[in-house]
Amino acid sequence: MKYADLHVHTIFSDGTFTPEEAVRVAREKGLSCIAICDHDCVDGIGPSIEYSKKNPIEIIPGVELTAMKDRKEIHILGYFISWKEQWFKEILKKIQAERVLRINKMIEKLKRFNIEVMPDRVMNIAGGKGSVGRLHLARALVEIKAVSSIQAAFDKYIGDFKPCYVEDIDFSPKEAIEFILRAKGIPVLAHPYTIGNDSLIQEFVKYGMRGIEVFHIDHSLSISKRYEKIALENGLLVTGGSDCHGLGKGRVLLGTVRVPYSLVDKLKEAANRI
Ligand code: AMP
Ligand code: FE
Ligand code: FE
Ligand code: ZN
Repeated sequence: MKYADLHVHTIFSDGTFTPEEAVRVAREKGLSCIAICDHDCVDGIGPSIEYSKKNPIEIIPGVELTAMKDRKEIHILGYFISWKEQWFKEILKKIQAERVLRINKMIEKLKRFNIEVMPDRVMNIAGGKGSVGRLHLARALVEIKAVSSIQAAFDKYIGDFKPCYVEDIDFSPKEAIEFILRAKGIPVLAHPYTIGNDSLIQEFVKYGMRGIEVFHIDHSLSISKRYEKIALENGLLVTGGSDCHGLGKGRVLLGTVRVPYSLVDKLKEAANRI
């Protein structure tokens, strides 16, 4: 039996694994396939594919876009996107630049709590490439001992709509889905349970969304069953992955959520039809 983990982050967003480490760990876990899905960035895909030539494992090019809807973050995964296209990379670069401004705004808000974070330090933690995000800021907050843990940083200051939170750029789920489709990718709703509004699924299907992430580290078995049923009822593709951030969230999650390879075949069939 072949298995795939279809949601893996690298240092090109808020993971701590280099693309090479992600490939190495995935092979150790006995996976046949992983999808590299960094937040708003595709720069980890090339190095993963390159490294996988000598360390065989199948790499699916992916991305995880952030969109906003009714003051909620909606994450849309894109599988098999044309990641080498210049126009596609240029739009992601603009989003990445917006992310830097957003982090700086959060740093400003933290000053109200007498917390001084050096913007350069956050950029250093982010490695000066790809997408900077709240997980990097949370690590900086732990480093200066403003909080005792990453979780505390989110709970007290930078979690969704906590006092120092700043919304992501004004990118709607519709725009995110259309952006992925334009890049010949398959748009899939990431971790639907974290959104807490299943009626949005039908709305997103109208925009061209093709699948939902049924299996995810934040989904219990019964929740996964619920989303599997919703997928079936709506003719949607089923995906799943660990959302591994390397050591970024404590333990290594890679391979802890995996799907049978038959689901990858279905994704590929759909991608060939776009
Ligand atoms: P950003 O893309 O900057 O909005 O950051 C979103 C990322 O922050 C998510 O992908 C997670 O990696 C992390 N994150 C968001 N909320 C939490 C939370 N409550 N606890 C831990 N990590 C979180
Ligand atoms: Fe993340
Ligand atoms: Fe996500
Ligand atoms: Zn993710």
